[in-house]
Amino acid sequence: MADELTKQATTSGAKIALEEVIRVGLADEIKTVETNENTYEARAVIFAQGSTRRKLGVPGEDAFLGKGVSYCATCDGNFYKGKTIAVIGGGNTALGDAIQLSKICKQVYLVHRREAFKAMYYLQKQLEALPNVTVIYNSTVERINGNNKVEEIRLKNIRSAELTTLAVDGVFVAVGIQPNTELLEGMLPLSDGFVEVGENGVTNIPGLFIAGDLRKKAFHQIVTAESDGANAAYSAQLYLQNNAKQTNQ
Ligand SMILES: Cc1cc2nc3c(=O)[nH]c(=O)nc-3n(C[C@H](O)[C@H](O)[C@H](O)COP(=O)(O)OP(=O)(O)OC[C@H]3O[C@@H](n4cnc5c(N)ncnc54)[C@H](O)[C@@H]3O)c2cc1C
Repeated sequence: MADELTKQATTSGAKIALEEVIRVGLADEIKTVETNENTYEARAVIFAQGSTRRKLGVPGEDAFLGKGVSYCATCDGNFYKGKTIAVIGGGNTALGDAIQLSKICKQVYLVHRREAFKAMYYLQKQLEALPNVTVIYNSTVERINGNNKVEEIRLKNIRSAELTTLAVDGVFVAVGIQPNTELLEGMLPLSDGFVEVGENGVTNIPGLFIAGDLRKKAFHQIVTAESDGANAAYSAQLYLQNNAKQTNQ
C-alpha cells in the first residue's frame, strides 16, 4: 500500500527526500526545515512525524515482536482467536483492548501495576461483566519468555515482590503512545506531548499544519491519519492561496 501511495504522490509532483529533520524554523513567513543533509524553505509546512508505542522495556519484548508481542489489538487481535493473551496497562486503551480481545480470545489477563484503573468508569463496568477477563493488579511484567514465540510472562507483585509465571500465547502492550513532537516543543502548546488542533490541522503559527498521530484525538489509526493528511493539505492550500492574494494586493 505504501508503494502505491508513494507512486500516486510522486506522479502528482511530490518530491521525496529520505532524510531526518533535525531542526525547524517556523516563526517567519518563509519557514526552514533542516535535515541531516539539506535545508529546505517553504511557505507552508505540514508536520506528520507520527508516534512511537511506549514499550515495557523488559527482556523478550523486542525479541518476540510479531511473534506474540503486539502493540495494537485492533490490528493483531484476530491472530489470537480462541487463545490466551495478556493485556498490559490500566488506561482507556488497555481496558478497551481487553474488552475487544475478550470477544475473540478464550482467556484475557489484564495486568496492571496499580490497584485501581485510570480508565473511564463505563469501561471498568463493562470489563467487570466479562467472565473470561481476569485482572491482575499491583503487578509488573518482568520478562517475556518463549522459544520461537511467546509462551509465558514473568510477573512481579510490587507489594509482596512475589514472582509468578503466567502461560500466554500473546502479550498486548497498551501503556500509551509517545508522539514524536520533540521538534515542536516550546513552539506549540502540547498536551501529553500531542498537539491540540482541530481536524483541519491549523495551528496558531501561520503556515504550520499538523496531521496524523501527532494530533490529540481519540483513535490513532491509518484511516484517521489519512483523513488528517487530506485535511491538513487542504488547509495548507487555502493558506497559500489566501497568502498569495494578500501578497498581490
Ligand atoms: C505496531 C503497530 C501496528 C499498527 N497497525 C495498524 C493497523 O493494522 N491498522 C491501522 O489502521 N493502524 C495501525 N497502527 C497505527 C498506525 O500505524 C498510525 O496511526 C499511522 O501510521 C499514523 O500515521 P502518521 O502518518 O501520523 O505517522 P507514521 O505512519 O508513524 O509516519 C511518521 C513518519 O515520520 C517519520 N519521522 C518521524 N520523525 C522524523 C524526523 N525527525 N525526520 C524525518 N522523518 C521523521 C517516521 O520515520 C515515519 O516514517 C499501528 C501502529 C503500530 C505501532
